[in-house]
Amino acid sequence: SWGRVRNELLKNVGKTNFTTWIEPLNLIGVTDGIASVEAPTKFMRDWVSRNFGEPILRELRASGLAVERIEFQVPDLRPIPATEVSRPAVPARKPAAPIRTGDDELPGAPLDARFTFDSFVVGKPNELAHAAARRVAEGGPVSFNPLFLYGGVGLGKTHLMHAIAHELYTRRPDMRVLYLSAEQFMYRFVQALRDRQIMDFKGMFRSVDVLMVDDVQFIAGKDSTQEEFFHTFNALVDQGKQIVISADRAPGEIKDLEERIRSRLQCGLVVDLHPTDYELRLGILQTKTESYRVQYSGLKMADGVLEFLAHRITTNVRVLEGALTRLFAFASLVGKEITLDLVQECLTDILRASDRKVTIEEIQRKVAEHYNVRLSDMIGPKRLRTIARPRQVAMYLSKQLTTRSLPEIGRRFGGRDHTTIMHGIRKIEELMVSDHQLTEDVDLLRRLLES
Ligand code: ADP
Ligand code: MG
Repeated sequence: SWGRVRNELLKNVGKTNFTTWIEPLNLIGVTDGIASVEAPTKFMRDWVSRNFGEPILRELRASGLAVERIEFQVPDLRPIPATEVSRPAVPARKPAAPIRTGDDELPGAPLDARFTFDSFVVGKPNELAHAAARRVAEGGPVSFNPLFLYGGVGLGKTHLMHAIAHELYTRRPDMRVLYLSAEQFMYRFVQALRDRQIMDFKGMFRSVDVLMVDDVQFIAGKDSTQEEFFHTFNALVDQGKQIVISADRAPGEIKDLEERIRSRLQCGLVVDLHPTDYELRLGILQTKTESYRVQYSGLKMADGVLEFLAHRITTNVRVLEGALTRLFAFASLVGKEITLDLVQECLTDILRASDRKVTIEEIQRKVAEHYNVRLSDMIGPKRLRTIARPRQVAMYLSKQLTTRSLPEIGRRFGGRDHTTIMHGIRKIEELMVSDHQLTEDVDLLRRLLES
């Protein structure tokens, strides 16, 4: 139910606030009406308790938990009670800019008003993707179909797709532009099947001028949804309508995708968003800082801070933005200049996490490959030994190679409880004592992942 609470909070506080403040929290448990919530640093604990204590309490209650109050704590520190949730000392950051939905008749996903071409910083790693997106946003005749954008998490795929939609809404109000995630596509499809409205569904999707489907890897392995997607896709291409697709990897690397869909996806323009380089990260930080300077006027920043961040936080842009958001909030709270010392104090957890580059997703992928099981089985519910064992190996390696806490690892293994993760890790530790093959496997995987 923590998952549900988090979903509700995401809706209430907006995406930026959510990633910066709520996502790093863990619900440890509820005892005697007291919910223990863990924050990664002292600063975050104080900030969250002050600014988000009330909504969190509300959502915990709404989810059916009998919670009287919340105790926010930090690992290895004794909990400080946040008996009554005090008024913010400084106003909480404004919720993310209003989200608007495009064409009212179309069941598209809401667009984030901040994801425009103006706010997108262009550098070597993303210049092709940006140029292609710009071209589509002109709304002229289709030159490549589909435009397939792919790249790792947080590199700007969704940002670019929203930017295309925004631009088209202004330039070409006559066009019917539909943006949604592959998950939503599936949801609508299943709903239409259930309500026997499949003709309406087909008619609606075939009536758009530009269709954008985000995170298409999601429909891999979902057979009837793939089938429907394929038909929609063909119908639109035949009518000369533009399609834009994003995924977290290249078409050829999406497992369980029908061959005919794969080849369809490859026949347009396939562009890769590369991992950010130092210059791009610095550019993004500078742009963001400009807007924060307006919001937190009077705050000073020492030389070298942005350079340090661009150098150290290389994972993804979302984390980079989150770090800056937290930094400004912290500095304004304590009324200090943003210096490198302050950075160390306020971003300990992020800096520590970025020391090690291995992610749980990579671990899951490598382990699945090694044991020849599906990546989806790593997070799925199957209890079969041949699947459960590799999954436990992945849990074990996640604990060893990342700085994630057990509840965080649990979340990435399909929302499992932290005790399940602990059990899995213990199991592997026990087995390794006598099972040499297992020990070898684990060592090999560790070396592969750390290289
Ligand atoms: P993806 O969909 O690829 O996972 P997003 O588009 O959601 O990534 O981007 C994550 C965050 O990083 C968003 O807040 C987005 O605005 C920001 N971002 C990513 N790339 C850039 C960029 N080149 N310039 C400005 N902001 C960026
Ligand atoms: Mg995205």
